[in-house]
Amino acid sequence: MIRRKVIIIGSGPAGLTASIYAARANLKPLVFEGIQPGGQLTITTDVENFPGFPEGIMGPDLVNLFRKQAIRFGTECEYQTVTKVDFSKRPFSVWLGETIYTSETVIISTGSTAKVLGLDSEMKLMGHGVSACATCDGFFFKGKRVLVVGGGDSAMEEALFLTKFASEVYIIHRRNEFRASKIMQKQVFDNDRIKVIWDSVITKIRGSVEVGVSGVLLQNQQTNEELNMDCDGVFLAIGHTPNVSLFDELLETDEYGYLVTRGKTSETNIPGVFACGDVQDHRYKQAITAAGSGCMAAIDAERFIEAHPID
Ligand code: NAP
Repeated sequence: MIRRKVIIIGSGPAGLTASIYAARANLKPLVFEGIQPGGQLTITTDVENFPGFPEGIMGPDLVNLFRKQAIRFGTECEYQTVTKVDFSKRPFSVWLGETIYTSETVIISTGSTAKVLGLDSEMKLMGHGVSACATCDGFFFKGKRVLVVGGGDSAMEEALFLTKFASEVYIIHRRNEFRASKIMQKQVFDNDRIKVIWDSVITKIRGSVEVGVSGVLLQNQQTNEELNMDCDGVFLAIGHTPNVSLFDELLETDEYGYLVTRGKTSETNIPGVFACGDVQDHRYKQAITAAGSGCMAAIDAERFIEAHPID
């Protein structure tokens, strides 16, 4: 069995940036790309806020460029999903079914998954008027009417952000009170560009991939009454789930379930295991911040290998 110096689990901007840096440090990284190679960028259309692309770039194209750059320097990318890990001793073990790989360090970049409502129409229109990131996509809704789903801090934050672009912002919440912090609620209630539709859920999103979203069907949870509402965009803000199930009981997580990294580093509670990207970040959640943290993880891994050689 060939022992690797660096295995990277996950292939979004964090994992692929980590692999570029690790490859250029001659560590010949092996990336297991997982069930959604490229991560959340692959369900995004235009990316206009990644520096270096003044005309914007499609999410999947950006990922392909990351991967191409990584491979150019010697990264191996495998379209496989890790099924188990053992971090109890170095070299660490990583399983893909029956096959075991060992590695001196592991970089975790498994990302997080935006929660969705579970509607067929929602998945079809994701990236075509349905979004889970106002920071990424709000700009495309200048002068438009948009809906934000959720009642937590994210929904408040997204709605407030969207008022910079959209002419009308509606928050659709399934109950008659928000769970968001009082201070965020106050900002929302004080903003006359935001209206709230209480006790309601979206049961259908109308539109097409060609023209985007045209409206939704709302159902009142108290009366079962249905209401057709025209809109141009639907922003889901019902939470994210960090993809940490592989590391249950092994790695420290915070109160929201995200991996904990120490101080301004990518170090987890296990020396030699590093984390980067959205799996350890519920605050910024941007491709550029994920990429930056991937760079940090590769540098941390390189220094760790030098400082902690094993036979
Ligand atoms: P959250 O607090 O879990 O809120 C999710 C919201 O979505 C809830 O209001 C929930 O409704 C609603 N929801 C969940 N599933 C739904 C479904 N299937 N259909 C309709 N509505 C659904 O998630 P979050 O807002 O992303 O926040 C996550 C954590 O990050 C929180 O602790 C939050 O305080 C923190 N955060 C902080 C800031 C900040 O301080 N600036 C910003 C963002 C997030 P119910 O209320 O009925 O359950």
